Parts: sequence; C-alpha cells; structure tokens
Amino acid sequence: MKLAGLKLTEDPHRRLNALTNEWILVSPHRATRPWQGEVAPLPSAKEPAYDPTCYLCPGNTRAGGIRNPDYSTTFVFENDFAALKPQVPRARLDVDGMGLLVAESEPGICRVICFSPRHDLTLATMPLEEIELVVDTWLGQFRELSGLKDIHHVQIFENRGAMMGASNPHPHCQIWATASIPEAPAKEIAAQRAYLQSHARCLLCDYASLETREQIRVVYQNNDFIALVPFWAVWPFEILVCSRRHFGSMNQFVDHEIRSLSEILQRITSTYDKVFGVPFPYSMGFHQSPTDGIDHPECHFHAHFYPPLLRSATIRKFMVGFEMLGTPQRDITPEAAAERLRELAGR
Ligand SMILES: [Zn+2]
Ligand SMILES: [Zn+2]
Ligand SMILES: [Zn+2]
Repeated sequence: MKLAGLKLTEDPHRRLNALTNEWILVSPHRATRPWQGEVAPLPSAKEPAYDPTCYLCPGNTRAGGIRNPDYSTTFVFENDFAALKPQVPRARLDVDGMGLLVAESEPGICRVICFSPRHDLTLATMPLEEIELVVDTWLGQFRELSGLKDIHHVQIFENRGAMMGASNPHPHCQIWATASIPEAPAKEIAAQRAYLQSHARCLLCDYASLETREQIRVVYQNNDFIALVPFWAVWPFEILVCSRRHFGSMNQFVDHEIRSLSEILQRITSTYDKVFGVPFPYSMGFHQSPTDGIDHPECHFHAHFYPPLLRSATIRKFMVGFEMLGTPQRDITPEAAAERLRELAGR
C-alpha cells in the first residue's frame, strides 16, 4: 500500500479507532456540500435560578412524593425511575444451550447527582471551586459503589441538552453501576489489553504522547490532562480527555488532579458553548478500570465528549443509512474540528 500518497485533508479514507478496533469513514471533500436537512428549534431562553416545577431543585418534590433537601452544594439520590435494581438474583438463560436465546440478570444501582442547587448553571458557567465539589462527589460515589458486591463497573455520565434526550436542564449527571462491564468500555478494555500484551506499554499513554508531539488535534492541555479531538473521532466536535499520568480510576487521583480535571472540564464545556453561540448539547462520561476485583494495568483513565451538533445551533449529525448499516462517517476532519475548538479555547 502506498502510504505517502494519502492526503488526509482531501481524499476519502477510513481511520482505525485504536481504542475499539473499529473503522470510521472520513470524506473531507464533502464538507462543503449543500445541506437541506432538519433544522431543530433553538434552545429556549435563559433558565431561572430556581424553577418551582423542577424535580431536581432544592426543596422541590420528586416523583413518589419524595422531597429534595434544601441542599447547598451537590446532592446525590437513587434514581426514582432506575433502569437497574440491586436485589436481582444472579441467573442466566440459554434455551437448549444453543447460544441463540441467551439472557442474564443484571443487578445494578442508578443514582442522580445534582451539580449545584442553581437551576440555571452548567459545567461551563459554574465557578471552578464548585466543579471541584462535583469531581469530589464523583470520587466519593465511585469509591462507595466500587466497593459493593456484584458491582463490577461504575459508569458516570452526563446528558446535556434536549437534543441528547436530557429531560431536565438542571445541571446533573447519572451513575449506572452494573454487575457486568458495558459494551463500550468492554471493547476499549479489550483493545487496551491487547496493546499492553503486544507492546508492553499502555495504549493511551502512547496515544497521548503521539498527539502531544503532533499537536494538530490537541484542543487544550493542563499539567495533568490533555483534551483532543481523537484521530478516529466520529462526532463532529468529539473530544477525548486523557490523564497525562497512567492510572485507571478516580480512586488513584492525587489532590491536584481534582482541580486539573475540574479546570479542563470547565474549559471544554465553555469552549463548546462558543462554537455556535448556544449551550452545546453533548453526552459525556468517564471510562475507568472495572471494579471487578481484578487488576487492570491496561486501563487508562479518560473521558469522552460526544456532541451531536454539526453545522449550527440547529443542525445535528445523524447516524443513519450507511452509518447504521455500514460504518460511521464524517465530513469535517478531526484536524479541522480541533483547529476551530483550539482557537475558541484560547479566547
Ligand atoms: Zn432545577
Ligand atoms: Zn496509560
Ligand atoms: Zn473510553
């Protein structure tokens, strides 16, 4: 294969996602094609500091008549509509042992974390010290849940914006702690394990140092973390946040990493809000070592931001057609997206 001839800025090509071993199609020549797709309504006007109808605001009543305390920092509670329940007996079904009709019970715990009593704030607009309290709360939750029997993976994630299906603008995230390791991290752990076995080094340590050397996809960095548009990004303005130091989970944070993570999260989310001049919707979450009692030297702490917006506040990317039936595809290159984000992050 003639490698030198491939022009990443012009030629249609596919890129390997080294974290999942999946390919994505990049079509840079299409970035200028006319668009007549969906135009979603603009997000509504500014939220009030307190909303009497919000089930997450302090002192308000949630489903089932439970009243929120008058909390003043962060607030954690069990999800009233939990997708998982802790007391499910472990059991497995495999009809006639044929591997065709297979099911397993999935014990788990779903919690909600309110970032702030203020209904109108976001990670992009909260003061840094308050984001540190959120990171502290994540850490405490991770520690507590990872110690529970039958909890082998703790997924912390935030859905931001109605476009991502977030039901409430009040700043909050969720934790789903499960007995099994979910699909996305399982794929990445397998790739990281294979890389460690074949190279005797960590995949994301090596990847982060390659990106630090090249700089073209780096959006922002501080002493402890680096934010970049990954080489294999699928979403237009996708960001991967990697710790500079090798460790697997928040359990291994040293003090200044709490502040550094808070700072980079604030920087990323406020940069996102500048892209189209609106609160930027996204799903974000952390990938950490499983909590299955086994050592995971292959796992490197990181976070993914998956924002759907493509060309404006109202035009989003869809994963349909070839992407659903074939392979995910993007037009604007990760390098072009990184350049735009980097410029906005520096302002
Ligand atoms: Zn609220
Ligand atoms: Zn590493
Ligand atoms: Zn990941």
